[in-house]
Amino acid sequence: MDLATVLLLHKCSFIVGAICCFYVRWRSREPGLDFLAIGDGLLAVASTLAGVGEQGILPYEIWTLASFSIGVTGYALMTTGLIQLSRRGRKRSDCLLVGFALILSVVVGFMHWYADNQTRAAIFNANTAAFLGISCVVILRDFFLDRLPARLGLLASLAAAMGFSTLVTVGMIFPQYGPVEPRYAFFMLIICHFSVALFVVVLVQERAETQLRRLANTDALTGIPNRQHFLASLPSELRDGDAFIMIDIDHFKSINDRYGHETGDVVLVGVAQAIANTAGPNVTFGRLGGEEFALFLRGQTEDAAAAEADQIRIAVNGLAFASGAETIVPTVSAGVAIWRGDCDAQKLRDRADQALYLAKRGGRDRVEIYPDPASMEECSSSATTAADQHSTEPGHPRPGELAA
Ligand code: GH3
Ligand code: MG
Ligand code: MG
Repeated sequence: MDLATVLLLHKCSFIVGAICCFYVRWRSREPGLDFLAIGDGLLAVASTLAGVGEQGILPYEIWTLASFSIGVTGYALMTTGLIQLSRRGRKRSDCLLVGFALILSVVVGFMHWYADNQTRAAIFNANTAAFLGISCVVILRDFFLDRLPARLGLLASLAAAMGFSTLVTVGMIFPQYGPVEPRYAFFMLIICHFSVALFVVVLVQERAETQLRRLANTDALTGIPNRQHFLASLPSELRDGDAFIMIDIDHFKSINDRYGHETGDVVLVGVAQAIANTAGPNVTFGRLGGEEFALFLRGQTEDAAAAEADQIRIAVNGLAFASGAETIVPTVSAGVAIWRGDCDAQKLRDRADQALYLAKRGGRDRVEIYPDPASMEECSSSATTAADQHSTEPGHPRPGELAA
């Protein structure tokens, strides 16, 4: 490939980068894309100026200084854009890089370093390598906060571009040791520029997908996982020590009726947060709907699962919500069921629900464990009596179904 073609492609890579960033900027609200787009645009202009200048169309002094200044400003804007995109925010100090690029341009102009091709190219490429290095460090640093796979692609592309810019710089300073022919280095830089543009687009896309997934999995009111996400997070097979806890706010309808639906929502959010704060890091939990919550735990004994449920009950008892002159102290009832190898997940959930029913029947603000089927047989006759008495209770299974 001849040098003219390489230079043409070099310019095209910036134009494509600018188009990609402008388009993504138009479709998304991610910060930094505007800087990236303008930076790529300026780099395309600088590359064009250099090409036109080489053909003798413009005075040497003008195109060399102009392409240098516009080029370093372009890279400064590109780096600023990548920093903002990576950390998802803007800061005033982001302008420092552009300031540095402008000062460098003034110094190069003042010292007439632009007039010598080799000196100009060495300074330009050294500056480019430094800006790309800064971008790499920032993208790697933020990877630990925002683990998007596209970051790795972006990082690799920028690191490769930094490497080739460094090789070009070394070649300019020590032509006798020129580690790589400039046109090959430029060709590799073109590929790097295309892949930077590609990974910027992919990163924005991955971020949007992550956000959508988070929204789809989160209960809009309480901010904890929703029913769908809770059910999807359950293991496909149960094993010994697996337990479900079902939790239901007591007399929540009365709270709504007495203090209003909005206050009810505040209580609901408070209880959900108390559950989230009390549940250990390995506990799967979510809002099943209304004022009902569920937890799934592994490696439990009956007593340990009941103790976890009781901790949540106590945490909720510690909440207080002011409504006018009155204070609302919510309570919850909980039902616990532990896997005994004789049912599937759906059945185990039903059992926890039935234990919750027992807690409600037992006076609320308490935890009940789903009884061992063996002991159930002994007391099935008394349970049937209870079913007859409370068969109108809405929302919960009848005690007659407990042995199911
Ligand atoms: P129990 O102690 O037997 O559970 O009685 P309860 O009043 O809590 O139960 P019930 O099933 O009779 O009422 C639940 C209420 O929860 C009815 C419904 O209006 C209310 N509710 C469901 N979802 C929401 C919500 O998102 N916000 C508010 N404020 N109320 C809700
Ligand atoms: Mg309730
Ligand atoms: Mg309920």
